[in-house]
Amino acid sequence: MKITRIETFLVPPRWLFCRIETDDGLVGWGEPVVEGRAEVVRAAVEVFAEYLIGQDPLRIQDHWQVLTKAGFYRDGPVLSSAVAGIDQALWDIAGKAYDAPVHALLGGPVRDLIRVYAWVGGDEPDELADGIAAQVEAGFTAVKLNACGRMSPIASSAEVDAVVARAAAARECLGPDRDFALDCHGRFTPATARRVLPELAPFRPLFVEEPVLPEHQHALASLVEASPVPLATGERIYGRAGFLPVLQAGTAVVQPDLSHAGGISEVTRIASLADTFGALFAPHCPLGPIALAASLQVGFATPNLLIQEQSLGIHYNKDADLLSYVVDPEPFRFVDGHAVRGQQPGLGVTVDEAAVRAADRDAAHKWRNPVWRHPDGTLAEW
Ligand SMILES: [Mg+2]
Repeated sequence: MKITRIETFLVPPRWLFCRIETDDGLVGWGEPVVEGRAEVVRAAVEVFAEYLIGQDPLRIQDHWQVLTKAGFYRDGPVLSSAVAGIDQALWDIAGKAYDAPVHALLGGPVRDLIRVYAWVGGDEPDELADGIAAQVEAGFTAVKLNACGRMSPIASSAEVDAVVARAAAARECLGPDRDFALDCHGRFTPATARRVLPELAPFRPLFVEEPVLPEHQHALASLVEASPVPLATGERIYGRAGFLPVLQAGTAVVQPDLSHAGGISEVTRIASLADTFGALFAPHCPLGPIALAASLQVGFATPNLLIQEQSLGIHYNKDADLLSYVVDPEPFRFVDGHAVRGQQPGLGVTVDEAAVRAADRDAAHKWRNPVWRHPDGTLAEW
């Protein structure tokens, strides 16, 4: 079997899909994207396609080696995300070639259900209560919310109070048996993180995510020391080598993104590395159906999985949502807040190719993240 064609599709709300076709007629799908830089990743996939056309798609590990290591200059979000989407598509083809779901090829299932969480996007504690109630009503047992908006370099007393109020409101709405996580989006400086994290402990969040930027991860060990709240990070870390210092710092939960961190091949290795530290694995996935399907396949075969993010109804999903490009929504029909293991071959998702081609042709997006500024005009972390 040989790879004969590689195409990419820029589709709303902010995604890039990749389709790999073989001379046997098998087709695999992947989602190679950096949110806000989709066109750049598309160009990287086109460069990698020069090598892949004519190759045997089943030599996944060897292709991963060549794409990540045969170039003298390597790594970074763009190249790692291009490899990630290609890798997902190759595993999809392998599953179809062997007539097995990817989790079976990864060693077989270790669980039949994966707990998933839903996003709650309200900005005020009042709206938060309504948003949480709606997700509980939909069956979810865990939610995630942003901890804050724009933050001063050292959080003011009022800013600290606002974060604490959100945690308190979430705990009150959810009661003791459900969970919430707070996403800081790298908006805290280490000083602010040291100030805020201990105050969140009484509300027992499942984890607090990205308390500081990846470039400040050398501060993580001191934050772990400063607070009993489990810390999570990883959506902006792109491979095993990047996760090692984060794990050595005592991070409780690693969050590699299947579309950024080298795909199924590398994320399974990151999960294993985390396991040697007793750390848990919770793949980042605010993306589309192919990235989520890849995440779930890994999760079904990974013992130290904690929980899975998913984007149904997330605040980013304008003009299209998780189910807009799939023929069958079944893999994403959550039962009591859990994804259910299926037996479909490959990634287990059937892409609506006509819808994808039409969206790329008629509605290709130019999504960019907002640029935030502080009141004095300086750039603020979004
Ligand atoms: Mg996040």
